[in-house]
Order: sequence, then C-alpha cells, then structure tokens
Amino acid sequence: MPNDNELVELARRASKFVTSQINIFFELCPATIIGITGSNGKSTTAALTAHLLRAGVDSRLRGNDKGKVWLSGNIGNEPLLTIVDQIKDDDIVVLELSSFQIEQLAQIQKAPQVALLTNLTPNHLDRYGTFTAYCDAKENIFKFQQADDNSPAVSIFNGEDEIGAEWFEKYRRDAGRMCIKFSPDDASEEIRKQFGLPGKANLANLAGAIAIARYFGIKDEQIKACLPEFKPLPHRLELVAEKNGVKWYNDSKATTSESAIASLEAFEQPVIIIAGGYDKGIAFDELGEKMAQKAKAAILIGQTAEKIGDAISKTQDTRLKTQVKLVKSLVEAVSFAGQLAVEGDVVLLSPACASYDMFDNFEHRGREFTKLVQEISH
Ligand code: ADP
Repeated sequence: MPNDNELVELARRASKFVTSQINIFFELCPATIIGITGSNGKSTTAALTAHLLRAGVDSRLRGNDKGKVWLSGNIGNEPLLTIVDQIKDDDIVVLELSSFQIEQLAQIQKAPQVALLTNLTPNHLDRYGTFTAYCDAKENIFKFQQADDNSPAVSIFNGEDEIGAEWFEKYRRDAGRMCIKFSPDDASEEIRKQFGLPGKANLANLAGAIAIARYFGIKDEQIKACLPEFKPLPHRLELVAEKNGVKWYNDSKATTSESAIASLEAFEQPVIIIAGGYDKGIAFDELGEKMAQKAKAAILIGQTAEKIGDAISKTQDTRLKTQVKLVKSLVEAVSFAGQLAVEGDVVLLSPACASYDMFDNFEHRGREFTKLVQEISH
C-alpha cells in the first residue's frame, strides 16, 4: 500500500506497527541479496542474473544443497515469505525491487548488498509527482547499502543511462563500496551469438547480468554455455504466433513509453503496433515520434488512446504516414491488425501503459491477446 494510504496513516496515528513483506524478508533472510531495480528491464535482468549464477554456483556446489540461487519478483513466482525459512547463509537471492519496495526498505534503512540499476526514466508520476521524487525513491537502494565483514557493498550502474552514469560518479569514491559500470556493448560477439532475445535493450539487460555474474566469479565460458537454455519470460517480446508469414508478439509487460520504444527498435520488419491503456500521467511525445518513424500502423486502445494518437500526428515527419486507428477493445484491435497485416509484417502488442483500465494486470492483457491471436483465421 502507498505510504500515504488512508488506512496506513490511520494505523500510524494510532501508533500501530506498520511494515511490509519486503521489510520482514530483509530482516529474516540470511543469504546475500542482489537487488535489481530501474524503470525498464528489471524482470529480464533479474531472471538472466539468476540463470547465469545458477550455471556457476549450482554446478560448483552440486551434490549438496548449499549455494542455491533464488529468484523473486514480478515474474509470477512464490511470495518471499513463504520461502524465507528454506534460504541458507550460503545462498544467493536475486530480487527484482520496485521503487515502492525500495521506499519501504528505506524506512528501516536497509538495502541489498549488491544493487543494480538498469536505467531511470520518468515513470509512476501519478504517484511521485516529479521525476526527481521518483529518482530519490530509487536512489535509496544505493544510499542504504552496507559492506559486511567479508565483502563490500556493490553498486552497479548502466553507463549509457544518464542517471546511471551520474550516480556511478557520485558513489565510486565511497569507502567500503565497489562501483561497477556496464554498457550494452559489453557482451562479446561469441556470447551474443548464444543469446536469443531480440533488441539492444535486451543486450543491456544481458550486460547487467554479466556484470553481476563476473563479480560472483562466473567465467565467460560458463556464461556462453548456459545462455542458449535461457527461456524468454512470458509477456516480454514473446513470439506467440506466426500465421501466413505474420509474426505476432505479446509484449504486454511493456508498461512504459521507453519499453515500447525499445521494442519497436528491436524490429527491422514493418510493425503494426497495438498500444494504449491506463493513464499514469507520462508524456507520449517520444513514443509518438518513434511510432511515426517505425510503425506502419498504430492501433490504439484504452484511456491513453487519444493522447498517443495526438502525439503521433504532432510529429514532424508526415512523409511516412503511419495509419492511426482508435478502437474500443483489444478484440477489435486484434481483428483490425489481422486485416492490415501482410506477409513479412510484425504485429506487436506493446502498450506503453499499465493495464488497469481494461484488465486485471499485464498478464491478463497478455493472455487475452494470445488467445485472440490464436483464434484468428489461419
Ligand atoms: P520491468 O520488470 O522493468 O517492467 P521487463 O524485463 O519485465 O521490465 O521488461 C518489460 C518490457 O520492457 C519488455 O517487454 C520490453 O518491451 C522492455 N524492455 C526490456 N528491457 C528493457 C530495457 N533495458 N530498456 C528499455 N525497455 C526494456
């Protein structure tokens, strides 16, 4: 619940003890915790990190149950408190952390020993008001990091992200802290060949995961060997059907402009994008421009449909004539996309918005899309 929630405030005023699942977990967890945060790419980076660490740590210690790697976050696995009693000192926990969870941890001045920031762009402004307030909430993950007897606090930043580069400079001279900077170009050609996820954004996610894996002593050979087995997460640029030469991608988890932009950039083919959803108060100017450059058509749904449509028509580049169509439902959107698409096209559900105006959550939206696509005539 948000900190300023009426019930939470009522409890505070009555001097009741207020805590959260994540805070209790940090107090009880005996293992090293790696926290992954940022505006985009958290789940993918966290899942990749756990995959790489498992390749090294689990095989080294095979035969006993020490050194297990746990993964938790917005990836549909078990709540932390149901597993905390199984976690041992020698284990490693990879945690995707939202800005809300970081805020809660800041109240008890806790942070993961190893922390990585994927990138930072305006998001959740309905809740934080300004970008600065949102950045401040995220920065607590680094502020409250502590070295322990055996190891420093480890802070990992994306050197190509403006805030990431700034914070790397800010924190790099701290005593008891080790700062690491990564860039999407870090992975060698050989490693990239083994990596199945599309687009430059995913290379940045991979580079972040590799930076952590290397810190834990995993060798490039091990990274290369285990990457082909990495399974893409559902609802993130997931190829759900190929019909009559048209590829349909479910990217329902793209709930920010930057993520939809990154997904558009991942394709060379003509793209028909389905976008729009709950209005978080973010601007769509850059997204509109990118759609005008890259998309053959934009089919828009939900609360933000008009805003995105306006952003596309406002853009300077009118030569490319992206077809813009506002529709009332995902059913209509999929059916219209089906009519427009020709062999060689990509149809991409990459909403750039949260789903709460029309669906329970992003998984619900992604499942509905996949079902509708599968029902489309062959
Ligand atoms: P998060 O957990 O931060 O929401 P995910 O890893 O679940 O991020 O990815 C959500 C969507 O964001 C993906 O479907 C893709 O469209 C996009 N994306 C993934 N990684 C990045 C990145 N590093 N930068 C920008 N967009 C990204």
